[in-house]
Amino acid sequence: MTVDSATRALLLAEFVSAFGLAMRYFFRPKPTLNYPFEKNALSPRFRGEHALRRYPNGEERCIACKLCEAICPALAITIEAGPRNNDGTRRATRYDIDMHKCIYCGLCQEACPVDAIVEGPNFEFASETREELYYDKGKLLANGDRWERAIAANLALDAPYR
Ligand code: SF4
Ligand code: SF4
Repeated sequence: MTVDSATRALLLAEFVSAFGLAMRYFFRPKPTLNYPFEKNALSPRFRGEHALRRYPNGEERCIACKLCEAICPALAITIEAGPRNNDGTRRATRYDIDMHKCIYCGLCQEACPVDAIVEGPNFEFASETREELYYDKGKLLANGDRWERAIAANLALDAPYR
């Protein structure tokens, strides 16, 4: 097959254009990140994995008012209430979140009057089994203990806009 001179000129022009484009991006800073070794900064409002928080003295914040359970549009939260051992005040004896149902809307956090249930900054909680995504109170409190410093800092940053 022979290629006429007009087609040859067109192919050459396209090659030069593509080469120029490649060279332009070759010397620019890379827009991609080498995840998981590099990560983007997260907004203080980022809605990641859920956590139940404690007060600095270790007492659980949750008073089992069930506002979060009532507002959850996905019906993902199940709470049972009972008296605390030390003073008889109300507390959650059961606090479960079915993370398969959760749509990460953040309404549970918005509804909570004592900042007990929050969506923290952790987004790396993929699991290999379904069972691992049925969170109970122990798991949620452990998340709160682990992420408290970051959660408290994010809440403080966001407070002026609430
Ligand atoms: S983030 Fe939304 S869907 Fe998920 S548990 Fe909270 S209220 Fe329910
Ligand atoms: S987490 Fe907050 S909104 Fe939900 S039951 Fe406990 S105190 Fe009430």
